[in-house]
Amino acid sequence: MATEYDLVILGGGTGGYVAAIRAAQLGLKTAVVEKEKLGGTCLHKGCIPSKALLRSAEIYATVKRSEEFGITVSDAALNFAKVQERKEKIVSQLHKGVQHLMKKGKIDVYEGKGRILGPSIFSPLPGTISVEMNSGCDNEMLIPKNVLLATGSRPRTLPGLDIDGEYVLTSDEALVFKELPSSIIIVGGGVIGVEWASMLTDFGVSVTILEYAERILPTEDAEISKEMERLFKKKGIQVNTGAKVLPETLQKENGVTITAMINEKLCEFQGDKLLLSVGRQANVEGIGLENTDVVLENGVIKTNEYYQTKESHIYAIGDCIGGIQLAHVASHEGMTAVEHLAGVMPHLLDYSLIPSCVYSHPEAAKVGFTEAEAIAKGYKVKIGKFSFRAIGKALVFGESDGFVKIVANAENDDVLGVHMIGPNVTDLISEAGLARVLDATPWEIAHSIHPHPSLSEIMGEAALAVDGKAIHG
Ligand code: FAD
Ligand code: NAD
Repeated sequence: MATEYDLVILGGGTGGYVAAIRAAQLGLKTAVVEKEKLGGTCLHKGCIPSKALLRSAEIYATVKRSEEFGITVSDAALNFAKVQERKEKIVSQLHKGVQHLMKKGKIDVYEGKGRILGPSIFSPLPGTISVEMNSGCDNEMLIPKNVLLATGSRPRTLPGLDIDGEYVLTSDEALVFKELPSSIIIVGGGVIGVEWASMLTDFGVSVTILEYAERILPTEDAEISKEMERLFKKKGIQVNTGAKVLPETLQKENGVTITAMINEKLCEFQGDKLLLSVGRQANVEGIGLENTDVVLENGVIKTNEYYQTKESHIYAIGDCIGGIQLAHVASHEGMTAVEHLAGVMPHLLDYSLIPSCVYSHPEAAKVGFTEAEAIAKGYKVKIGKFSFRAIGKALVFGESDGFVKIVANAENDDVLGVHMIGPNVTDLISEAGLARVLDATPWEIAHSIHPHPSLSEIMGEAALAVDGKAIHG
């Protein structure tokens, strides 16, 4: 017995479940096939649990400096089991929310592993999907008019650094730590490496970063990487850049030892554990792509701007198509794909308008081009930069490190990029995102009145600084 659908979505992560809701809103009979839990990486192994841990770490670090605020706390102690319990509670609450949204949208959820079997006599395009049910019941057969692949990604590993769950871990294993190690080596100083380095340091763990590139956060503006490295060193994190890790030197006995080549010297590092954070790999295996004409390029599914694969009724979105692997990107791609297949002309995504954030302490955030990218694209740029040190609310917060940098087009005043490091910048970046969408100039940003005292005043000052007119700088 097979069930027919307008749309079957493989993967109920952020991309998949948001696409399902949009499809239901558009009147499509929709099913989601999810082999683990609705909410996917973001809800269960990524954004939410990591930010819950980061928040506890931040509170712990703040309590430890409470004397600065005139408050004496004599017995601040970390109860890591409670920290994990709080994280689980938040995840579970949001998981229930997603399940409720599926019911509300009358979206059928199949708990199992989905696979495209290819065209059948019932449905030549795109064919049948079989679901190997987690319950062990017989496979379900689904016959969709359209398929959306939203199977996400998993941690990339390095040959020779096999994940054993005890000594060598990825963020998946680290998220469920029962107790904290006393020291850790983090291989990869990108977003995950930096967030975990910050969190573990704030929890009191001794952290060493080994980053292959010449700077941590190598895709951020160079000045942001430099400031993050400076502030990380101030926190006591050992930051090693230009580090070529030699997996064959890994030794595991009461901890790990590994050697890296840095500036042509062999340097040995020791820690209780090693966390590997060297990027993510698309989940494209075992989903039946061999039964389709879908094309893979560099390990990710190739699509056009409407997220159609080479088979026009099979769409793909989110981490499994590579590009910017973020939750808000996956969900917007999902909505765009669904609107297109439903015959509604979607608004295409402009990837240069997408903000991205790093939730370390300090936080970092950006939208648009870095200064180097803008110059490489041929723009003549002018820069406005303003420090949190001159922002009253930052001093009140006790968080005055960091700055905002605006990269503007010197010829027509367009804002090309905004880069931030400091307190609450993962929220402040939304103003810069809106400014980019509305094509606002620095003058317009500065003349949108920012309340005093607020951290947002820094946007107005950085915008004035583009033309050398900052008031407090
Ligand atoms: P996923 O969320 O990975 O969902 C894919 C789903 O498909 C999974 O649930 C999987 O079980 C399911 N699946 C796979 N194959 C099958 C199959 N054959 N049948 C059925 N189901 C299948 N992004 C942000 O924007 N902000 C953050 O703060 C952030 N923090 C992160 C922190 C960490 C530690 C990590 C690892 C990632 C973080 N990300 C963050 C990235 C974000 O989690 C991903 O970009 C996002 O989850 C991608 O959504 P997706 O729907 O494409 O894939
Ligand atoms: P990443 O691409 O951000 O960083 C990987 C880092 O590892 C890079 O700096 C790279 O130079 C380095 N590297 C690669 N090979 C190496 C080697 N052999 N030795 C040492 N360093 C090496 O990837 P990630 O940090 O693993 O994160 C994965 C994805 O998850 C990213 O795409 C990111 O967007 C997403 N994510 C987002 C957030 C957020 O939005 N706050 C948080 C966590 C993860």
